This record gives sequence, structure tokens and C-alpha cells, in this order.
Amino acid sequence: MPNRVAVIGAGIAGLSAAYQLRDEAELVIYERNDYVGGHANTVEVIEDGTTIGLDTAFIVFNRPSYPGLSAFFDELGVPVLAHEGGFNMFDLDTGVEFGTLEFDLPEHEIVERYPESFLGIWRDAQRFHAEAPRHFLRKQAEFGLGAYLDLHGYSEAFKRGFVVQLATAVWSIPPELIWQMPASTFIAFFMAHDAEGLGGRSVAWHTVQGGSVTYVRKALAAIGAELRLDDPVVAVEDLGHWVEVRTLSGSSERYDSVVLSTHADQALSILGNPTPAQQAIEAVRYNTSSCLLHTDEAVLSKDRARWRSWNFGTVTTDGQSRAWPVYHLNQLQDLNARQDYFVTLDCPIEVAPDKVIKRITYSHPIITCEVRDLQSSIYRAHSGSRVLLAGSYFHSKSLGPDQIGSHEAAFSSGVEAARAVRAVLADPQFSRRDHAHSKSTQEEAL
Ligand SMILES: Cc1cc2nc3c(=O)[nH]c(=O)nc-3n(C[C@H](O)[C@H](O)[C@H](O)COP(=O)(O)OP(=O)(O)OC[C@H]3O[C@@H](n4cnc5c(N)ncnc54)[C@H](O)[C@@H]3O)c2cc1C
Repeated sequence: MPNRVAVIGAGIAGLSAAYQLRDEAELVIYERNDYVGGHANTVEVIEDGTTIGLDTAFIVFNRPSYPGLSAFFDELGVPVLAHEGGFNMFDLDTGVEFGTLEFDLPEHEIVERYPESFLGIWRDAQRFHAEAPRHFLRKQAEFGLGAYLDLHGYSEAFKRGFVVQLATAVWSIPPELIWQMPASTFIAFFMAHDAEGLGGRSVAWHTVQGGSVTYVRKALAAIGAELRLDDPVVAVEDLGHWVEVRTLSGSSERYDSVVLSTHADQALSILGNPTPAQQAIEAVRYNTSSCLLHTDEAVLSKDRARWRSWNFGTVTTDGQSRAWPVYHLNQLQDLNARQDYFVTLDCPIEVAPDKVIKRITYSHPIITCEVRDLQSSIYRAHSGSRVLLAGSYFHSKSLGPDQIGSHEAAFSSGVEAARAVRAVLADPQFSRRDHAHSKSTQEEAL
């Protein structure tokens, strides 16, 4: 009888694990949504009889920082497009705008053509890009980003006008939580992607042609698993000789092993008797963002010529400074479309209701120093249980502890979970025929 393995959660972490195991076990994929992909979530609209795939969360990747994912896409024959980078930051309070264009200019032009307030940000950005990599390499940046920037004397204007926007967009977290993230993680992002971070021209960023749903469909066809959609798993119990999986609709089945590839908090809420190493993922907290896919340009700079793939707005409302990213999907995904399509996250500017295509709530791990510290032991969760965890809250093993939260991190965790499933299935201690072993003796042995 073939081994039976369940994968719970059909984001990239779960798809990655299922893909690795496709020829080695009978696979069942459980997903609480009515679609597969998790944050690979494409909304398809029709314009003049042509389908246009609009990505609402995962959109971009590049080969150097996404080696596993890139190889996976190559194997599946996923068509990808070059993504022309570029960002623009616009402050609705002051009217100041700056972005890719300005950071390429020599200092004397900034002095001549731009307000004093921007000159300070420009100089701080140049200094940050010059000195921060040194601090990273000397391990002098493994503490909170807010404390790091204060220690090195960066201005409030730089923090508010540059750091906040980029971090809000890259890690999908609200401004007030950015200062807790490890400075090393923030710096590592720029080191990997050059000074512009997102859409830098020295790194060839890509998007998936037709939207990420293109890769999801190809992955599902290659995996060939049984799919159980729209039915959340409510309990996962490692009973020593097998794992029992129960769903909201009342189904209950036994598996030889399970990959639990939901977010960390969701995993702990359904996993009975977690091992101490599994329980340790409770350190990962999540932030919820309200994502809007729409066609209302009110959320952007008034100067259309300044629109870029990545746009970051700032405005003061009720005495509070608010920042929000706007993805201009037409530029980002190189769309051939009549309409302009935008994705905004937690945007304080009201979007006309008749221009809203879809509202989606996403949750994303908050990358704190605690979460980074957890990375030194997180893969211990892959021993001592038939239930293996995966998700973007694990770091990419090949890229290191600062590569958390991305599609590559999640993909890599799926590969590692599949490897651990193989070890479980190959270990006689875990054999279904070996009924003498109880769960506690297995744990003691490990
Ligand atoms: C707005 C936004 C933009 C992003 N853009 C990028 C980008 O461009 N590039 C990049 O690399 N990363 C990006 N990310 C990061 C992204 O989160 C990761 O790249 C990755 O997609 C996370 O994958 P995952 O499999 O860990 O989680 P998810 O994709 O969230 O998958 C988890 C799955 O588990 C399912 N699930 C949960 N509970 C249950 C249950 N009880 N039973 C059954 N199923 C369950 C969920 O429904 C979901 O499908 C973005 C994130 C956000 C929020």
C-alpha cells in the first residue's frame, strides 16, 4: 500500500512540499479557501474578450534571491516576464515626490533642484547604502531597525520618508511595527537587490506571465494530488502510528505523515500535542492587511508621469502619518490593458466603490528580532513528529536567517518538510506496522 501524505494549506510552501513528494506518496491537499495558491492569488478580469490576470499578493521574484523557486518554475515551464523596476514616493502633505529618477542624480543637481527636506533624505539614503552593508557583514546590525537608525544618527525625515515606505511594501507590515524588525533583515534586502530595493535595475526582477495562477495551475497538474478545497482542517493529531486529520465538514482521515503548511498561528491552533520545537513557532506573530484591487487613480500621485511599478504614498490623517504602497499592475506585470489596475494595502485614501474589483484580507508574519532568533533552531521542528511544518516564517536554508517571509523562504521550507517526510516514512521507528512504539518513546529517542 502506498504511503499516504496530507498537505494542509495550498500556498507555495504546501505546493512545494507536494511537488517534491509527488512520486513517493498518495497525496491529498487540504485548503480552506476555494482556490489554490494562498498568497499566489490572481484575479482574472476580462477586457475586450481577453483574460487579464491581476496579481494581488505574490508578484515578483528574481533569480539570485529565489534560486529554488526559479528552478521550480523552470522545471514547470512557467513563462516569466522581465519586470521594469522603479519606485516613486509621494508625500501628499508637502507635495514632495522622489524616487528612482532622483536617486540616480548627482548631489549638486539635488542641491539645485530639490527642497532642503529632500536633500537630507537623499544624503541619508546614500550613507545608509554605503555603511549599512559593512555593519551587516560585521554582525553589527542584529538588533531592532529603529534602534539601529537612531544609533547611527539617521534623520526622522529619512525614517518617515524612505524606510517606512519601503518596509511597508516589502514586508506588508504597518509603520508602527517596522522599528522592531531586525536591522540586518532590512539591510540584507538592499544588499541582495541593490540600493533601490524593489525594482532595482541591477537585479533582473520577473513576474509570471498571466499572473501567478499560471504557475499554480502548472504545479497542480504536475503534482496530480487529490484536492479538498473550501473545507478548513480543524484538527491534526499525531497519534504515533499515523496522523488523524479532521475538517470542518466532519471528514476524518488517517495519514502516514502530514505537511502542515499554514501560517504558524494557524498551525498551532489545529495541531494537537505539538513537540516543544513545534510549539516554539508561537513566537511568530501576524499582521493583517486590507488589500484592495481597484481602478481608482486617486490613491496615486497626481502627476501620472511619475507613476512607477512601486509607489509609496504618505499623508497625515487625524494627526497621524500614514504610509501605503500602491502597485501599478500595468507596469509591474507588463499588462496589455486599456484600464489602469492598482493594488493598495491599508490605504487611508478612499477608493470609489464602483472602482473596487476585490477586497482581500492578507496576513503576513511580522519579522521581529525574536522571529529572526527563532531561525537558528526552527528546523528542529522537523524531527520527532509525523507532522512537518512549512511556511514563509521559516528562512531559506540556502540564503540564511534574514531571508524570511518571501516565496523563496516558503518554497525552501516546503522542500525541507518533504525531506523530513521522507525520513519519517523511511524510519522503521515510524512504521505503521510497528505498533509497539508510542509517541513518547519516539520523542525520547530523538
Ligand atoms: C500583499 C502581499 C504581497 C506579497 N508580495 C510578494 C512578492 O511579490 N514576492 C514574494 O516573494 N513574496 C511576496 N509576499 C510574501 C508571501 O506571503 C510569500 O511569498 C508566500 O506566498 C507565503 O506562502 P505560504 O505558503 O507560507 O503562505 P500562504 O500563501 O498564505 O498559504 C497558506 C495556506 O494555508 C491555508 N490554510 C490556512 N489555514 C488552513 C486550514 N485550517 N485548513 C486548510 N488550509 C488552511 C490558507 O488558506 C493558505 O492558502 C507578499 C505577501 C503579501 C501579503
